Amino acid sequence: MRRPIVVGNWKMHGSRADNARLIEELGAQYPPDPAADCVVCPPFVYLQEVGRMLRDTPIHLGAQDVCADNQGAFTGEVSAAMLKDVGCEYAIVGHSERRLLYRESDQLVARKFAAAHSKALIPILCVGEQLSDREAGRTAEVVQRQLDVVLELCGAETLGHGAVAYEPVWAIGTGRNASPEQAQEVHALIRARIGVRDARIAAATRILYGGSVKASNAAELFAMPDVDGGLIGGASLKADEFLAILAAAG
Ligand code: PEP
Repeated sequence: MRRPIVVGNWKMHGSRADNARLIEELGAQYPPDPAADCVVCPPFVYLQEVGRMLRDTPIHLGAQDVCADNQGAFTGEVSAAMLKDVGCEYAIVGHSERRLLYRESDQLVARKFAAAHSKALIPILCVGEQLSDREAGRTAEVVQRQLDVVLELCGAETLGHGAVAYEPVWAIGTGRNASPEQAQEVHALIRARIGVRDARIAAATRILYGGSVKASNAAELFAMPDVDGGLIGGASLKADEFLAILAAAG
């Protein structure tokens, strides 16, 4: 049985005051015994402070990215050990904004996954096709390639210690979500691809859907058999929306 998980990716939004308000609102309405895991991923500079605010809540702390290297002359980077040191439990790797805007390759993303896992963070691997890929019928090819590079470098066992987020690029921040059937098709494909290496790990790995998830569409997406929760961008910045999404996951 896979426990659902909802992850809020705050991206480059917020301020100390905004964060405090959001956490207070979430904390005030948070169900005492949530049926889904919940993670929030603030920008790096706010991690420690948000972590402190989350201390008496069941909400977990995650980072939006992690360096592939562990230590050294890497100006501007933040290592997995540092994230662990300030209380992070999760790290997103390979978000499409990083792949596209900062030219992160599949290989670099795989190294980031390995680095996060090596310091006992739970990596959340984002995969997903661009609109042109989908229109050209290349969705499966793209998603499998992104997944295979991590499976090759890290192995199925390590992948199974993390999670996968299917995020079609055309659905991120556009208000146009994948239909439940479109999401299910790709989630099943991801699970089958992991299953080629290890059926037990495939069955246990949590696969999240991300891309314009809102309170109004979360339940139908999460009702799909291979959708184990969501990676939420815009809607994670509004307490009411995020809590409704969390309730739909549970
Ligand atoms: C994301 O940034 O991972 C995301 C899914 O964003 P949004 O929910 O805003 O589409």
